[in-house]
Amino acid sequence: MIEIKIFWHKNPDTDSVLSAIIFADYLNKKWYKAEAYKLWELNNETKYLLELFWEKTPETIKELKEWELIWLVDHNEKTQSINNIENLKIEYIIDHHKIDFSYSEPINVRMEKVWSTASVLYKMYKESNFEISEKLAKLFISAIMSDTLMFKSPTTTKYDIEISKELQVISKINNLEEFAMKMFDAKSDLWDISAEEIIKYDYKEFDFSWIKAWIWTLETTNPNYAFWRKQEIIESLKKIKENDSLDFILFSIVDIIWENNTSFVLDWKDSEIIEKVFNSKVENNIVDLKRRLSRKKQIIPELTNFFEINR
Ligand code: MG
Ligand code: MG
Ligand code: MG
Repeated sequence: MIEIKIFWHKNPDTDSVLSAIIFADYLNKKWYKAEAYKLWELNNETKYLLELFWEKTPETIKELKEWELIWLVDHNEKTQSINNIENLKIEYIIDHHKIDFSYSEPINVRMEKVWSTASVLYKMYKESNFEISEKLAKLFISAIMSDTLMFKSPTTTKYDIEISKELQVISKINNLEEFAMKMFDAKSDLWDISAEEIIKYDYKEFDFSWIKAWIWTLETTNPNYAFWRKQEIIESLKKIKENDSLDFILFSIVDIIWENNTSFVLDWKDSEIIEKVFNSKVENNIVDLKRRLSRKKQIIPELTNFFEINR
């Protein structure tokens, strides 16, 4: 039997990694041979969770052969995927982001407007009448808590709230808030991490009408770790902008507790765009983007519109 290799996106977040592991379990239950593989380093939140109750980290894979079947989880844009994706055989996509995908052959796609890929998978388990063990329920609920910032993100749907209640019972987590805060604290601990390392966290590449942009969301319970290193981070971002010939950069620091977004902006060109799009003033490379917690819902759509009109 050919093995299906499942992948999350670049600079992976918890939802993408845990959903890939859940998806492999789902496929095994369907009698496929499937495995989630690691292509990129995990963030501290995901590492903490896997150590806490999963006891194993997906194996690292270095190289993918052209004929290998791959299934993509939590993303569909090629810029966010494996570098040689053009040469690989994509069979299936499971996701909850905007669609920016074309392919030369028919493929299977399952996308829903819910707040995590794990929520889509939960539906699939229900449809197939598959049992969810206590351990698996912990994967589901952690992915949901992470992607929704404990239900604070505006991407919330009624369905996600309902299933979280069901999953909390199965996972036997008594205090969900306490559980989530521990994950967020694990993610936020950037005490001895250099600016170069910090900027490897959660950025996504977008092509806005030929504008090549990278946009970060550093979700944290302690934004000071980033503010203390503002100059260092800005210097590192400048290097990236130059080396990768980027047209636009936005580095958002999302405070999970106070529910606000303070972003670093690099230069006058980017500042001009930010001020127009979000109607906020950039001062000393900093802009207050207020309660914009979701890149997917509150940052990308506005920028997409702006670049469409100002081509
Ligand atoms: Mg993700
Ligand atoms: Mg997700
Ligand atoms: Mg996410």
